[in-house]
Amino acid sequence: MYDFTYTKPSSVADAAKLLAADPDAKFISGGQTLLPALKHRLNKPTTVVDLTGIAEMRGIRREGNMLVIGAMMKHAEVETSAEVKAAIPALAEMASNIGDVQVRNRGTLGGSVSNNDPAADYPAAVLGLGATVVTSKREIPADEFFLRMFTTALETDELLVAIKFPIPEKAGYAKMRNPASRYVMAGAFVSKGPMGIRVAINGAGPCVFRQSDMEAALADSWSPDAVAGVKQDPDGMNGDIHGSAEYRAHLVGVMAKRAVAAAG
Ligand SMILES: Cc1cc2nc3c(=O)[nH]c(=O)nc-3n(C[C@H](O)[C@H](O)[C@H](O)COP(=O)(O)OP(=O)(O)OC[C@H]3O[C@@H](n4cnc5c(N)ncnc54)[C@H](O)[C@@H]3O)c2cc1C
Repeated sequence: MYDFTYTKPSSVADAAKLLAADPDAKFISGGQTLLPALKHRLNKPTTVVDLTGIAEMRGIRREGNMLVIGAMMKHAEVETSAEVKAAIPALAEMASNIGDVQVRNRGTLGGSVSNNDPAADYPAAVLGLGATVVTSKREIPADEFFLRMFTTALETDELLVAIKFPIPEKAGYAKMRNPASRYVMAGAFVSKGPMGIRVAINGAGPCVFRQSDMEAALADSWSPDAVAGVKQDPDGMNGDIHGSAEYRAHLVGVMAKRAVAAAG
């Protein structure tokens, strides 16, 4: 690791100011991704801005037909929240299957979504529910947030503060885990609700994406068999030592079918 300055602000405004003043500073939430990156010298921040002291980035509350979850909420807190279980059970279920218990007790919603790892779980829920990302500067619809692998619409001095999830009529998630890393090989988050019918695919491509052919098929008939008939084109899917692009494209269909079955 390189030397860096450590700071722990207590407000969103102060954290944003620190980043605006120093383009080589970095936010840290749970450190599950950032610390390994520092240890491997893949990242060299001058200042690390610890977000754990910012109360306004915590909490889970219902606002009308929205569930608002603070960026600093850990996966284990989402998994066990009575509010989440009541409003969007598929989200609590998803959180309960992220990594292992150590990861769930450190990793945060904001860290996962800001990082936009193609194989992460939360981006599928954010896109699949048509959520809104609340930042220190603005509100960004999910459809405009995930730009490409490890890249989002967040500017360098912009913090992810909370996510507003519209409460769906139905939602379900299914994923095929890599048995070694537990990250997603291919997953599908489906929902029907105020944002229409949405199918978000993670793990299979370089960035989470909406599968519009499956959305059209579900609009005709909401059933697992409706999506099973839609083929995912392997062109552009990820291929690596863990699975070919063709295998991942096949998994997309299987996971979408299971997600619709889970949604009921
Ligand atoms: C062994 C292991 C297994 C895992 N398995 C899974 C899995 O199965 N599924 C899954 O989805 N994830 C998995 N993860 C990832 C984990 O769940 C974390 O969510 C992820 O690593 C991000 O970590 P963090 O929240 O601690 O963020 P950090 O590591 O602190 O930060 C990650 C990045 O986001 C930035 N950042 C953090 N918070 C904010 C914010 N509020 N606003 C703007 N930028 C911010 C940081 O500057 C950094 O660039 C795994 C991680 C590990 C170590």
